[in-house]
Amino acid sequence: MKTFEFTRPPDVTAAIATAAHAKTAQQGADVRFIAGGTTLLDLMKLNVETPARVLDINRLPLDKIEPTSDGGLKIGATVRNSDLANHPTVRRDYPVLSQALLNGASAQLRNMATTAGNILQRTRCMYFRDTAMPCNKREPGTGCPAITGANRSLAVLGTSEHCIATNPSDMCVAMAALEATIHVQGSKGLRSIAFGDFHLLPGNTPHRETVLEPGDLITHVILPAPTAGSKQVYLKLRDRASYEFALASAAVVINVTGQNITRARIALGGVGTKPWRSKEAEAVLVGQPAEKGTFGKAAEAAMRDAKAQSQNGFKIELAKRCLTHALQMAIAS
Ligand SMILES: Cc1cc2nc3c(=O)[nH]c(=O)nc-3n(C[C@H](O)[C@H](O)[C@H](O)COP(=O)(O)OP(=O)(O)OC[C@H]3O[C@@H](n4cnc5c(N)ncnc54)[C@H](O)[C@@H]3O)c2cc1C
Ligand code: SF4
Repeated sequence: MKTFEFTRPPDVTAAIATAAHAKTAQQGADVRFIAGGTTLLDLMKLNVETPARVLDINRLPLDKIEPTSDGGLKIGATVRNSDLANHPTVRRDYPVLSQALLNGASAQLRNMATTAGNILQRTRCMYFRDTAMPCNKREPGTGCPAITGANRSLAVLGTSEHCIATNPSDMCVAMAALEATIHVQGSKGLRSIAFGDFHLLPGNTPHRETVLEPGDLITHVILPAPTAGSKQVYLKLRDRASYEFALASAAVVINVTGQNITRARIALGGVGTKPWRSKEAEAVLVGQPAEKGTFGKAAEAAMRDAKAQSQNGFKIELAKRCLTHALQMAIAS
């Protein structure tokens, strides 16, 4: 690990002012915030991240979970994943989020990992994490060995000829289905970003993963008021039952009146280059009977644009079955 300067900014303003000196907030950033450290320190030890300055944000007042005036929930950037998963309001009104969090990592990691850190966790693509290998995301223009190499765990949705890395987060899949908003404070002021607009597709610039600019600090996430009567499920399929990233996952938030689905919010994990909201699946579900035939058609629609690589074609069928089963679980709940 290269040497770096470690400081604890006294307040949010000082943290942003220091971070604003960075050349980029994307791969290669020379200034990084540190929260739980469970992504950043790993990558620093591997020399994938080499910031000259690391700013500890753990003492900033960003660790509260509070109701909003319109019935939603405000989640501070440094709220630990375990605290969020076990918060009574989250368990009652947003169970898909609680389930997604509890399906991630291990208890010890969840005790350290934070809301903002989880949103900004990096891909587990083995070439990205190995500086002896080329990788367009780590070093633009060097190539993507995963496309012809080890790609079993990588993405089938949202890929480009330059990168097929999967976004590994579970929490983000639930937040995408819940239509969360990410709130950012930067050197130019405050702004809010719809969850679906925060992460970028790789396209020609896989080193740019989010819309963040130098100095931008995620301060909190807002969940809208829960939809009355919604049925929620997060289902995660992986190579082993715990401590493993998703091969495919589905977050389902649906309402059923009588026999028919009246509202659906669907997101997929483990298969996309970003947390994957499927408006295609939602369009198939709404207005249709809540039964297996409808769920199968929605799953087909969700994966219609999937592109398999040499080793990960199985994910397309796996994701379809994952979504179909998650919908069945939601109806039965
Ligand atoms: C062994 C292992 C297994 C795992 N398994 C899973 C899994 O199954 N599912 C899953 O979803 N995740 C999994 N994870 C990932 C884990 O959830 C993330 O590492 C964690 O959520 C990151 O949070 P953190 O607070 O530790 O982030 P940090 O490492 O502190 O930060 C991560 C990034 O976010 C930036 N950052 C942090 N806070 C802010 C802020 N407020 N504003 C702007 N930038 C900020 C940092 O600069 C850094 O670039 C696993 C991790 C490990 C090590
Ligand atoms: S898939 Fe993306 S992260 Fe992995 S080697 Fe290719 S460019 Fe790098």
